[in-house]
Amino acid sequence: MAGTVKTEAVVLRSIRFGEADRILHLYTQQRGRVNAIAKGSRKPRSRFGGRLEPFFRLDLLLYEGRGDLLTVTGASTVSGYRDLRASGPAITAAARACDAVLRLLDSAEANRAAYNLLCRYLELLDRDSRPGSGEGEGAAGPHAASHAAGLAFRLKLALAAGFVPELASCARCGEAEGITAFSGAAGGVVCAACEGGGFPLSVAAHEFMVAALGRSLAELPAADEPALRQVERAIGDVLGYHAHVQLRAAA
Ligand SMILES: [Zn+2]
Repeated sequence: MAGTVKTEAVVLRSIRFGEADRILHLYTQQRGRVNAIAKGSRKPRSRFGGRLEPFFRLDLLLYEGRGDLLTVTGASTVSGYRDLRASGPAITAAARACDAVLRLLDSAEANRAAYNLLCRYLELLDRDSRPGSGEGEGAAGPHAASHAAGLAFRLKLALAAGFVPELASCARCGEAEGITAFSGAAGGVVCAACEGGGFPLSVAAHEFMVAALGRSLAELPAADEPALRQVERAIGDVLGYHAHVQLRAAA
């Protein structure tokens, strides 16, 4: 297996290690989740510069030896998302997105849908944080750092990871009419007859989930906060029950 891997990657987490090194938790285009060590990267004149920080999208050369930890031998920036980095809400949203990827996508195999989704979300956060990108101009819809956008990202990530909730008909009996609740155990929306164990789901929350999965992140539907809280609970229940993953609060 020893050899060099060339891949794009997003830095999910960057941890100081030893005297001058870093351990990077990466989501890569070619290999999914991998960890790598960047030796000497905290020295003042490191050839890696400041680009081994969270949210950087990089072109990497990784040396793969015998262990699980790869070694970074080359890194160039694809996108540093400079405007994202200047906005507190965008940094928080990006950190939550990276944390969700860490928790939900732990396997070292490529998942292009998940990789592209993460890059797209970081791009939107960057765009919406750009000076002059005020509300009311350009694309409509909630700011990428909003609760709604964060939840749409989670839904799409759940889809990419294979844990998307059933939304078209009752997850227990298949009835399409009379959906009243959501059941994490059942894996989706449920009808009044099958409601046991679930929680009441509003029409607005149900519609938001359907629309968010059907549209791009930049074309999000609007939803009020009570509906979004139900959506967050629904995603959390499905992932907790079926993926055995607990995500942090989305807002
Ligand atoms: Zn039912």
